[in-house]
Amino acid sequence: MSISDSSAPRTGSSLYPHLLAPLDLGFTRLKNRVLMGSMHTGLEEGRDLSRMAAYFRERAEGDVALMVTGGFAPNMAGWVKPFGGTLSTSGAARRHRVVTDAVHQGGGKIALQILHTGRYGYHPLAVAPSAIKSPISPFKPFALSSRGVERQIRAFVNCAAKAREAGYDGVEIMGSEGYFINQFLSLQTNHRDDEWGGDYSNRVRLPLEIVARTREAVGKDFIIIYRLSMIDLVPGGSSWDEVVTLGKAIAQGGASIINTGIGWHEARVPTIATSVPRAAFAWVTQKMKAEFAAAGISTPLVTSNRINTPEVAEQVLADGCADMVSMARPLLADPEFVKKSAQGRSDQINTCIACNQACLDHVFQNKLSSCLVNPRACHETELVYRPTPNRRRIAVVGAGPAGLTAATVAAERGHEVDLFDGDTRIGGQLNMARVVPGKEEFDEMIRYFQRRVETTGVRLHLSTRVQAADLAGYDEVIIATGVNPRDPKIPGQESAKVLSYIEVLRDRKPVGERVAVIGAGGIGFDVAEFLVHDGHSTTLNLPAWQAEWGVTDPALAPGGLNTAPPLVSPPARQVTLLQRKAGKPGAGLGKTTGWIHRTALKMKKVKMIGGVNYERIGDEGLLVSYGEKRENPTWIACDSIVLCAGQTPQRELADALQASGMKPHLIGGALEAGELDAKRAIDQAARLAARL
Ligand code: NAP
Ligand code: SF4
Repeated sequence: MSISDSSAPRTGSSLYPHLLAPLDLGFTRLKNRVLMGSMHTGLEEGRDLSRMAAYFRERAEGDVALMVTGGFAPNMAGWVKPFGGTLSTSGAARRHRVVTDAVHQGGGKIALQILHTGRYGYHPLAVAPSAIKSPISPFKPFALSSRGVERQIRAFVNCAAKAREAGYDGVEIMGSEGYFINQFLSLQTNHRDDEWGGDYSNRVRLPLEIVARTREAVGKDFIIIYRLSMIDLVPGGSSWDEVVTLGKAIAQGGASIINTGIGWHEARVPTIATSVPRAAFAWVTQKMKAEFAAAGISTPLVTSNRINTPEVAEQVLADGCADMVSMARPLLADPEFVKKSAQGRSDQINTCIACNQACLDHVFQNKLSSCLVNPRACHETELVYRPTPNRRRIAVVGAGPAGLTAATVAAERGHEVDLFDGDTRIGGQLNMARVVPGKEEFDEMIRYFQRRVETTGVRLHLSTRVQAADLAGYDEVIIATGVNPRDPKIPGQESAKVLSYIEVLRDRKPVGERVAVIGAGGIGFDVAEFLVHDGHSTTLNLPAWQAEWGVTDPALAPGGLNTAPPLVSPPARQVTLLQRKAGKPGAGLGKTTGWIHRTALKMKKVKMIGGVNYERIGDEGLLVSYGEKRENPTWIACDSIVLCAGQTPQRELADALQASGMKPHLIGGALEAGELDAKRAIDQAARLAARL
């Protein structure tokens, strides 16, 4: 599925007949086909769940049919981390009332996800079918006795009963992503020889017992979603026959809805990152749908992963891949996703760019989640855009992400805003990001900002370089002029073979066959990615992307993982990526995506070298030495050298304003360029504009 031209005008909800059709579950009706998938945000922790209530209420008011909370453990053994969110007592159930009441007042429905992490638990009390440590937690789990297994089943059932007591409309039993239930299914993680191990009929007993006993405990009129791992993407994963057997048994055993799980957390295949093609796994759910149809099973199936626009969601449903679509991050990005689609305003949707920078990366750093494109996500009670009682004239200089956010939030609040930029188009650095293969989603960010400028009434002045004197009449001036590339001052860098990243990404200057990239930060990686590709992005070509990452039909290989070597097209250039720091280049990239960038470049045979000194540039190429003693001088033969050595703030205008006695507000790169990213720039801009 390709990235669509979302700048085309939309005329009404008739554009999405499948997406907006209600779904009858017999005892209850869902108002459309959008399920907000479970996502841990950090709001689950602690006793006060009022922020979680506000978060879900906004999404209920945005007309999401059914939402699933982040994972709550059924007992201590199942914790995500020490003292992670747990629901096992009536006292805890009472604390959840604030969430369920808020959602119901907002016109929505909500299910609680029961998540038992098993050997993925980041704590010393973790339990699993067998005492086998996972590659993603330092804690080796205890192997459960038969009585221990029984206790875990009872904990699941009790948690579901407490969820009902708390006012939830249902539960989701987390049976995928390599968590506890999945660990029983796979021979890699289940070495038991009792009634819970050995043959598949024994290994599959745990989920079947949990679903059957949960149904018995909660009654017929309560939603049970089961998240089924349809493609494990790990060696030794379930065969397709096993997945189908389990799926049918779960459906017949009392689940109301079956959701699709893609890949264990330890899988080395990207499943949700921005470089993954849109709807890249809908075909897996479609295969299951065919199996269900052949067996006369009508239990609705939900498909998931990289569905982030109503067009893609509609297409997936129209193609018969599933009965519902699950989206989590797109609803962090825009709580009104469904409402805007129904009102024919999908061009105004703030689209999730699948960067993970403010959501999953935060979770892995033990920080509260947010969203790069929507800093209000998970901060609904604290970052509020109220109409201003005091309309002022505001000038914003710089139409990159910081300036665009500040201008549009201020204008939305009722201020009179002029936005200036010297370029002929908005977007600033986003225009460079969007040309990098695998970063096509940045187009959506620019489209969104363009529409925001129009709908909030910001007066946009492009191709306009303002001077300090031009800003004299404004009540407030916001400087969002961004950054200048840092000069690394390498002897010989005036050579014609040296280019800045701007000349490569924006100006498209010719680049030779052999390239040295100086600086292995986010932009160095982006430039390397840009240079090794021959203009074709596998993000826009699902079969090519699957061949590159070894994804195949699970009916052909267990877990859907190809054992043949990956099929990668040869690199367009020979690239060497360098940094002065010793250690692994790319170590500072996003927690959940850095490994994908490193692997992608390795597949394209990019050489990554840390711990170098840049001695000089000459006709032969780049001379580097190693270590503090500048040993082992070596020429890296290259035709082009691209400078990606970070940035410094662009502050000339701010300095001039300050010299004339004005007090401008500085945001984004103009304030602080070190490790600047769009997340910080947008958050800072939104917070400033909310209080002006
Ligand atoms: P960065 O992540 O701070 O990396 C700068 C790189 O330059 C480092 O590898 C650093 O490594 C090197 N460096 C620093 N000073 C140097 C010097 N004096 N001489 C030679 N090398 C030097 O900055 P960035 O790559 O410019 O990215 C900026 C931010 O934007 C990051 O947060 C990134 O995630 C984000 N980003 C933006 C885009 C975009 O298109 N705008 C794209 C990707 C990422 P050593 O000091 O070890 O040599
Ligand atoms: Fe999507 Fe990035 Fe926002 Fe996460 S932070 S919801 S991936 S845009």
